[in-house]
Amino acid sequence: MSQPESAGTSSAADCLAGGGEMGALMRSMDWSKTPIGAVECWSPALRMMVRLLLANRFPLLLWWGPRYCQLYNDPYRPVLGDKHPAAMGQPAKECFPEIWAIIGPLIDTPFCGGSATWMDDLQLEYIRYDRLEEAHFTVAYSPVPDDTLPSGIGGVLATVHEITEQIVGERRVAALRDLGARSAEAKTAEEACTIAAETLSQQSNDVPFALLYLMDGDRKHARLAGTAGIAKGQPESQPEIDVDAEISREQPWPLAEAFRTEEMQIVEDLQGKLANVPPGPWSDRPRSAVVFPIPSNIAHQVAGLLVLGISSRLRFDDHYRDFFELVRSQVATAIANARAYEEERKRAEALAEVDRAKTAFFSNVSHEFRTPLTLMLGPLEDMLASADFSFGRRAEELKVVHRNAQRLLKLVNTLLDFSRIEAGRTQASYQPMDLAAFTAELASVFRSAIESAGLRLSVDCPTLDEPVYVDPQMWEKIVLNLLSNAFKFTFQGEIAVSLRQAGESAELSVRDTGTGIPENALPHLFDSFYRVEGAQGRTFEGSGIGLSLVKQLIDLHGGSLRAESVYGSGSCFIVSIPLGRAHVLPEHLGKTPAQLSVTRAARAYVEEPLQWLRAAEERERSGEGEKDELVSLSPTLRVSPSRILVADDNADMRLYLYRLLSKSYEVRAVSNGQAALEAAREDPPDLVLADIMMPRLDGFDLLRALRADPLTRTIPVILLSARTGEESSVEGLQAGADDYLIKPFSAGELLARVGARLEIARLKRESIELEHFLRTAAEDAKAELARKNTELRAERNALQRELASRTDDISQLTRELIDSRKDFISTNELATELNAVTRLHELSTKLLNPTELQPLLEEVLNATIALQTADFGCVQLYNPSSRALEIVAHRGLRED
Ligand code: ADP
Repeated sequence: MSQPESAGTSSAADCLAGGGEMGALMRSMDWSKTPIGAVECWSPALRMMVRLLLANRFPLLLWWGPRYCQLYNDPYRPVLGDKHPAAMGQPAKECFPEIWAIIGPLIDTPFCGGSATWMDDLQLEYIRYDRLEEAHFTVAYSPVPDDTLPSGIGGVLATVHEITEQIVGERRVAALRDLGARSAEAKTAEEACTIAAETLSQQSNDVPFALLYLMDGDRKHARLAGTAGIAKGQPESQPEIDVDAEISREQPWPLAEAFRTEEMQIVEDLQGKLANVPPGPWSDRPRSAVVFPIPSNIAHQVAGLLVLGISSRLRFDDHYRDFFELVRSQVATAIANARAYEEERKRAEALAEVDRAKTAFFSNVSHEFRTPLTLMLGPLEDMLASADFSFGRRAEELKVVHRNAQRLLKLVNTLLDFSRIEAGRTQASYQPMDLAAFTAELASVFRSAIESAGLRLSVDCPTLDEPVYVDPQMWEKIVLNLLSNAFKFTFQGEIAVSLRQAGESAELSVRDTGTGIPENALPHLFDSFYRVEGAQGRTFEGSGIGLSLVKQLIDLHGGSLRAESVYGSGSCFIVSIPLGRAHVLPEHLGKTPAQLSVTRAARAYVEEPLQWLRAAEERERSGEGEKDELVSLSPTLRVSPSRILVADDNADMRLYLYRLLSKSYEVRAVSNGQAALEAAREDPPDLVLADIMMPRLDGFDLLRALRADPLTRTIPVILLSARTGEESSVEGLQAGADDYLIKPFSAGELLARVGARLEIARLKRESIELEHFLRTAAEDAKAELARKNTELRAERNALQRELASRTDDISQLTRELIDSRKDFISTNELATELNAVTRLHELSTKLLNPTELQPLLEEVLNATIALQTADFGCVQLYNPSSRALEIVAHRGLRED
């Protein structure tokens, strides 16, 4: 140490001026007891450095002299923890014995003339507040020159920035990210636990060990599903825990408590309890751990339990606790997702199984249908071709059979194609084709149908530069399906087919000016069995397979299909097929050269639309305008027959029903529900026979409308449906139908049901009429009775009036009699007479009641005898029927 300078006293005091708390501490210290000696003896370099250090707001520590005596400023103080204040003036080795092996060489290098030290992240196990802590620092150790020394270096300045929080925080974020990302791969709950445990084992700084338990189905046992840092099969990692058992001290972890309380449990003092708890990356074992219940998707249902060790080098502060909470929720999410995935997979497998079964069924059943249909169609065509069946009613009937058998065959074929594609059993057989010519040829198949319907067909298919590889039969189905749809939904204007090259593809467009498709239906158009609700086409018939089949056929070609439509204005379907051969595997190249001809199957596509047209013409011929929906045909019966209204949109079915019923009834047939309703209101029939699936107004709506109108409310309705099953008929009957018939039905069954319904209706009608008659008669009788009563009442009143006047006469007479006799009779006798007269008067004023008549007569007699002082007397009444006077009361006379 150099000699004190003479002028140094003031400058020595100056160097310790200010500097906050540390400045004050330094000033208060006796530096002569430290290795760097009294302040007065400090070299100018040291003083300058101390001044600089105290004035700086960055954490700075100066190691001075060969023993690295320490001087530091206020910002550095927290780094030292409870090593302060002893650290001030203390040799570094004494202050940091636990890390001296690491930092000693780092200080020595610059002190001994080496380069300055710089470390981004210096990790230290560092004693602070009585315990070893994990701490991270960014440090720069720089030599401090001192010209007064032979080595030229007086000490080392440490510029220190503690980054523990940042490093630990980043590490935890990375751990959580890893946990989330990796456990998303889990397909089962067990796998989720294994992956979580593996991920946590990489995070031993924060999670020295972990145990993951999953609850069993019985919810009484937890099974070990993953461990990190502890091997399985240790006393600390029991494979199965009975969470239902009494909480026992034997259990290494409070799993049962966590399960029951659904709350985190902290286990302290692990070192004493568990010999096998691993230390993690540090030299001593964790002191504590936590046990978490892992929540499930169901409230209060624990999915499992999680044990996490707490690092012996970190405080279990709020950040640490939050980290563990996040680990727990990541594990919970991984388990829940895996379980959801498992369930989804099981459901998908079950659905796929049903789908496979359905496809196999479609496929088998379609095959089964084709044989009998072919056997029916062959002979039918022969019969139609033979002279015997060329004309007349039988020929017409046969044509209906033929047409419908063909339709059935087309449906079966479509179903078969569909199920084959679904099962992945369809393979295109590609052939290089002049696609323009082939498409034009296919479009021309529809020309007559389209033009007969008063529409224009525009075909614009210029020859393409190169042949296009397609499966001709599939292409035929694609074009014809789209054309058939366009025809079905277009009533005026044009259908335009065009094919041209668009980039690397051939693009077919089928555009119509028809009804268009509602915007909300467009995204579902190519779904299997999807049909636009309430769509108004030439027919209501359809299966919703057509476009889905077209889409799948196009997919097989590596192409695409899209639909554009403006509701009310028209639709356009655009098919794009790649040019070239890139989408064709050599083994899928067709063996036979392509034939540019339309197949027999194509005829079925056109036959159907022609049939819709024929039906419309038939209606036209009946010449009744919009009402010409009606095929009104007169009966062949003499006595007024029952009248039946038939509603069915299928022309053949309508004709069949008409023919069947018109033998016995007067039949009117219409092609939709609305027409049926109008016809029924205009002229209510005796019975309505209606199909359920009809355009404009379906069978159920028709039924509702009929029941709502008082005019048509009582008309019996029989619904016809192709939907089989008890539910459908229950639905029909619940809707208020009188009966429900499922297609196909036999002629006998139909006639029997119609007959029975008409008979029931007739009986009902008759009983209503009888009831009406009886009610009228009863009402007449009641009126007569009332009239008689009034008469009687009038007569009685007259009688009473008469009686009253007679009584007045008697009173007068009595008074006269008394006056005339008062000289001859005693007062007593007079009193008796007066009494008798009064009684007579009273009696005469009483209303006569038949039950009172006899006693009254007796009294009259008694009163009269008393009045006359007679010995005997009698009362006689005139009997009008015997026309004689009869004695009704007597006194003093003999009985005979
Ligand atoms: P469907 O056998 O019912 O015709 P599709 O799969 O061929 O089945 O068609 C599905 C639905 O798409 C049809 O029910 C119809 O409503 C609608 N649709 C298809 N093509 C057209 C079109 N060109 N114009 C209007 N609607 C159409």
